[in-house]
Amino acid sequence: MPEQPELTIQGWGPPADRVATVAPREDGADDGVLELAPDPDTALPKAARKHLSRQLGWTPRWTPPVPVGDIRLAPSRLPARARAVLAGLLGEDAVADDRLSRLTHAGGKSYLDLLRRRAGDASDAPDAVLTPGSTEQVAALLRACSELGVVVVPFGGGTSVVGGLAGTDADDRPVVSVDLRRMDAVRALDVPSSLVTVGPGMRGPALEQALAPEGLTLGHLPQSWEFATLGGYAATRSAGQSSTGVGRFDDLVAGLTLATPSGVLELGSPPASAAGPDLLGLALGSEGTLGVITELRLRVRPRPRSTHYEGWSAPTWAAGLATLQRLARHDLLPDVVRLSDPDETDANLRQATGAGARVLRGSLRARRRGDGCLLVVGWEGLPTIVRARRAAASSVLRDGGAVRLGTRVGESWVRHRFAAPYLRDRLLDAGLLVETLETAATWTTLPAVYDAVRRALKGALSTSGRRPLVLAHVSHGYATGASLYVTVLADRDDDLPIQQWLTAKRAATDALLAAGGTLTHHHAVGVDHRPWLAQEVGPLGVDVLRAVKQRLDPQGICNPGVLLPD
Ligand SMILES: Cc1cc2nc3c(=O)[nH]c(=O)nc-3n(C[C@H](O)[C@H](O)[C@H](O)COP(=O)(O)OP(=O)(O)OC[C@H]3O[C@@H](n4cnc5c(N)ncnc54)[C@H](O)[C@@H]3O)c2cc1C
Repeated sequence: MPEQPELTIQGWGPPADRVATVAPREDGADDGVLELAPDPDTALPKAARKHLSRQLGWTPRWTPPVPVGDIRLAPSRLPARARAVLAGLLGEDAVADDRLSRLTHAGGKSYLDLLRRRAGDASDAPDAVLTPGSTEQVAALLRACSELGVVVVPFGGGTSVVGGLAGTDADDRPVVSVDLRRMDAVRALDVPSSLVTVGPGMRGPALEQALAPEGLTLGHLPQSWEFATLGGYAATRSAGQSSTGVGRFDDLVAGLTLATPSGVLELGSPPASAAGPDLLGLALGSEGTLGVITELRLRVRPRPRSTHYEGWSAPTWAAGLATLQRLARHDLLPDVVRLSDPDETDANLRQATGAGARVLRGSLRARRRGDGCLLVVGWEGLPTIVRARRAAASSVLRDGGAVRLGTRVGESWVRHRFAAPYLRDRLLDAGLLVETLETAATWTTLPAVYDAVRRALKGALSTSGRRPLVLAHVSHGYATGASLYVTVLADRDDDLPIQQWLTAKRAATDALLAAGGTLTHHHAVGVDHRPWLAQEVGPLGVDVLRAVKQRLDPQGICNPGVLLPD
């Protein structure tokens, strides 16, 4: 297991040598044949850089962030009396208002968060950072903050990409970040019931390490796996890279403890219950607006004895989608499914590096016919079941006109599944706009959603001389539909970079909702999506959420800037 990387103030932590793989090859070998992710040392291969310059109308340039020492930070607004009360409850060591603590808890990892910090703006930094060590301490601090008029923003790994940690408050009250890193242990393991009880500040790698001796795994692997916390996954309803197998985190939560200003709720009754509506669902996706998740009971499973990942080429995007839909209908979707559209397929081919990459690139190209699309699939489980599911799915894939590319493509994806975020800072340094967005739609509406989002982004980001690159893939499959993950690259407007993205994001969100997509499949609502929440759940739905918040958090201190519209 790699050493836990450090989260930096700007972006994603130290590069290259810290890139982790979940399942390194047992012989330690790297066949070096096809690397779907770019080499983190060079950020982008020369050819890809040239291609991007031409494609985007982008001139690579050096636009570094301001030095950390120059980031502007207003003095803490936490009153001395409030500080003393909190230190009395938690201990002096658990209340920090020094510059570094506040800066490292300023916002999350969205493009807008990074732009602000790179420009030296830390106006979203909390006034202090609290590090409680138990549910009792969290409950006590929530009661105290309610009385003191102090806003509380729970902080897990700080990887929110929707402004979930913005800490904004209409009443301009002091803000404390409640960092759950001290609550990071396995508290109980019930092997017969396949349940593990953990603290919310625990991260995926540490949990997998703790489960390994028992032959168990959680298996939830979002791309932010190295940094994000289990509490954060629950608070945002994250989705891992195993698209269908153990895709959604909310499916893995059997129960949790939610500390609120009005008291502590124990939610969820494994294995199943019909005792009224499931209140667990209120906490999942609550993004810190109802209180703090202080414990989770999670479903675990045996570690897969066999894994098999491979690449295919679908003749077209439409044919690829139709094949995935057939697989879904017959319950044959592989555990990992990632269908890239023609532009993302092309980008993957251009980024391919490593010894022998040219040979494989050539063969992939030869097998692409016209608008051929790269499809990475993977199966995990007992060997006999993996073999049987793979054989059945392969026959549906072939019937759909797909051509098998082999295991090297699949293994390369596994090796580099966590690598892309490490590039982001360098692409930003070079003057690029780099951001992602995601949605999901039924199989019937997905093609229209795909067209609408691409059109909107291209329309909003194309100006004289500038043309964005919009790359998309299907990342999660369901019987009823699939999610769509979109990456946008464009020449950054150095004068108005925030406005440039806000315009594009607004256009894309309006378009995907109008076409029938969901506001978010797994990134959550945060600040960025909240103006549209009523379109997703209806005005009455928003009122219901407000009523629950009013009961649990009458003073409105729990992360008031996110989820619920003004
Ligand atoms: C490079 C990158 C890749 C990503 N890949 C994925 C991906 O593959 N799949 C995916 O779903 N998401 C992904 N994300 C988004 C992000 O990692 C997830 O939303 C993750 O679940 C957030 O976890 P966190 O611990 O970092 O939470 P934070 O970012 O710290 O917090 C997120 C929100 O949850 C609240 N919160 C956090 N902990 C608690 C708690 N214990 N109780 C109550 N509220 C809490 C916070 O107040 C905030 O509103 C990615 C982000 C980045 C930057």
